[in-house]
Amino acid sequence: MIPSDDATDAPPFEEEVNTGVVVEKKEKKRHKKKKRRRRKIVTPEEISAFKFVRDWVFPDLATDEDDAEIELLSGNKRAGRILFDLHSHSSCSDGFLSPTALVERAHSKGVKVLALTDHDTMAGITEAIEAGRKLGIKIIPGVEISASFFPREEHEMDEPVHILAYYGSWGPTKYDELETLLTRIREGRHLRAKEILSKLTQLKMPLKLEQVSKIAGIGVAPGRVHVARAMVEAGYVENLRQAFSKYLYDGGPAYATGSEPHAEEVVKLVCRTGGVAVLAHPWALKNSLMIVKDLKDSGLHAIEAYRSDGKLSGLSDLADSYGLVKVGGSDFHGRSGCQEPDLGSVHLPVISIFEFLKLAQPIWCEALRDILTSDMDGEKKPLFYDSKELKCFSCIISDKSCHDRREIELLGKKLSFVTVASR
Ligand SMILES: [Zn+2]
Ligand SMILES: [Zn+2]
Repeated sequence: MIPSDDATDAPPFEEEVNTGVVVEKKEKKRHKKKKRRRRKIVTPEEISAFKFVRDWVFPDLATDEDDAEIELLSGNKRAGRILFDLHSHSSCSDGFLSPTALVERAHSKGVKVLALTDHDTMAGITEAIEAGRKLGIKIIPGVEISASFFPREEHEMDEPVHILAYYGSWGPTKYDELETLLTRIREGRHLRAKEILSKLTQLKMPLKLEQVSKIAGIGVAPGRVHVARAMVEAGYVENLRQAFSKYLYDGGPAYATGSEPHAEEVVKLVCRTGGVAVLAHPWALKNSLMIVKDLKDSGLHAIEAYRSDGKLSGLSDLADSYGLVKVGGSDFHGRSGCQEPDLGSVHLPVISIFEFLKLAQPIWCEALRDILTSDMDGEKKPLFYDSKELKCFSCIISDKSCHDRREIELLGKKLSFVTVASR
């Protein structure tokens, strides 16, 4: 696994250490899993959670109420599993696949719901939604926002923190406010790239910013991974891993910090803009306890707790004690030739997906109301405004994901003339 531009991602290359031991452990794990599967008892909670999730993912599917129960009790190991991947990157940030190619790959891996969570940009969402529509994959518009946590104690270091934001299918409300913050972060990345390059020049490895920007692609804010690729191209290092382990690692000789906003500020903004705020890969944080506690006070909804190795992170108890929902995703970047968890490789238990959706629905419904109302006033346009969707107001009304359909229905009636008038 090559470290992503995420400063806080899981420690790199851990799979490659002591390969023999890992294989042995895997064998044991497989054995244990088999046993567990045989003993698995399906609880009534799991059955009703499965029904709920299934109806959210496939609202048009006419199913018998008992189907879920029959499916879950069938003993089929894939039964009751609707694959969600809530963390992925495209070439709009530091991923290697275009949003379309990413969605296609997710489809081939059996993913039914994919959140595209590029770093500090939502530029790929529209394309992903379009691709998802063709393939029958539901896209959750998301973004992974770079932030910093500043501890109260002066002797402690700032820590980079990534906040995942998940929005309803119509995107964030108050989009301008969100975009202003994201732009600020992206601009900070350009400055940061310049600083990294000047450090590399001092280390006798000069690189041109244009070269790095070219690798990043048009409109993509350059990150460490793009610098690393330029270093490989220039022959300064053999591969990306070496670039990181020798020079670009956190606090390394060519490391530079960006101008990231305070994590608490980011969480509050996500909440204000109709999103679900989730702390990404908390297992990689030094100060996780304090960060979780502080961010919870700012409105944090959930933390990533499920990992690609099938483990529940040690922070699961912490999530429980703070009443935070536990989620997870692959954090897929699509780097060829590197070991990284593939799309759909983090299996979320149906209960966790259910809790996530239960939490998200009222938030997303409220945002939708906000979007529709602000549009009527001729204010900001929502991001993923789709004229086809708008014309078909009944789609929204029949959307089972809305917690208060009646209210949406009334709003629909009230706004129906706008639909025709404004499109
Ligand atoms: Zn991250
Ligand atoms: Zn990520």
